[in-house]
Amino acid sequence: MTTAVSFAKVSRHFGAVRAVDDVDLSIAEGEFFAMLGPSGSGKTTCLRLIAGFEQPTSGHIEIFGTTVEHVPPYRRNVNTVFQDYALFPHMNIIDNVAYGLMIRGMNKADRHAAANEALELVALPGYGERRPGQLSGGQRQRVALARALVNKPKVLLLDEPLGALDLKLREQMQEELKTLQRKLGITFVFVTHDQGEALSMADRVAVFNDGKIQQVGSPQDIYQRPQSRFVADFVGSSNVLEPDFVKQLTGKESFASLRPEAIRIVAADGHSATVTGNSYLGGNTRITLALGDIRISALIPADQNVPETGSTIQISWQESDLHLMEGAQ
Ligand code: ATP
Repeated sequence: MTTAVSFAKVSRHFGAVRAVDDVDLSIAEGEFFAMLGPSGSGKTTCLRLIAGFEQPTSGHIEIFGTTVEHVPPYRRNVNTVFQDYALFPHMNIIDNVAYGLMIRGMNKADRHAAANEALELVALPGYGERRPGQLSGGQRQRVALARALVNKPKVLLLDEPLGALDLKLREQMQEELKTLQRKLGITFVFVTHDQGEALSMADRVAVFNDGKIQQVGSPQDIYQRPQSRFVADFVGSSNVLEPDFVKQLTGKESFASLRPEAIRIVAADGHSATVTGNSYLGGNTRITLALGDIRISALIPADQNVPETGSTIQISWQESDLHLMEGAQ
């Protein structure tokens, strides 16, 4: 397997701020790789380091086996799609898409042919004469994508590219981007703070916090087997159970995560819990529960009765749903 991007002990500090702190990372060719984390966790800085807009304070970056520290952005075979699209408002769509090729000196006929091909790829044929202001947000997003793809990059960097879109369009574009990535086989590195987006699109996800990668793995790994309290909390708001309680359940003194959807209401022989509140989420209802002094939340599917706040119910879960987090604090 060829490695597209690798970081060896890469740091990028801004004064006292450790934006990226001693990160090791390896992204395979053809992979759809998501960088997930809260605001300020260092995702964008990692992307800018790959693009060449930032230089590491220390450490070493390779793209397809070549050291890139002294390679300028335009010679890295990498393109970026920005959240705000960064289209030129005074140029029509075809010239926006063909811009990179023009800079590289390609003649007009050839670059327009390539731009039309790229517009077809993003399902926007025939829009070439319009200006960015005459397109919807979703269409502008597609133009930004076409403008990057026309350069046939080996790695495409996407910085929250769907952030400005409404939920429905966002979900549609998630599907389209994933399909396009599979079709082209280009390595995608996708930055997002939306865990649903990362889990649904990526082959692998790196979860960032405070400039460090907390965990890298498949969406299933990250969701079902979080290695730390931070990952359990951030990816899908899991219940994190304290070691004392876990010891009573399993005999092992360790933190454990328990997904809200794994909790079932049973008629008898469960753990007694008092319902302390609920919030309606559409497809299901989240209820909060007190088991003695332990607070947890559970998801009740829409087709089931929501127990009344203040009532005492019995809850249960499969032993395999309790995921022990060794060494988590
Ligand atoms: P967001 O989702 O909000 O974009 P992020 O995870 O992408 O967040 P970064 O943009 O990488 O985070 O920022 C990481 C940290 O580095 C933040 O504390 C930020 O303020 C700081 N930082 C980033 N760029 C600079 C800069 N040019 N100068 C000073 N500090 C910076």
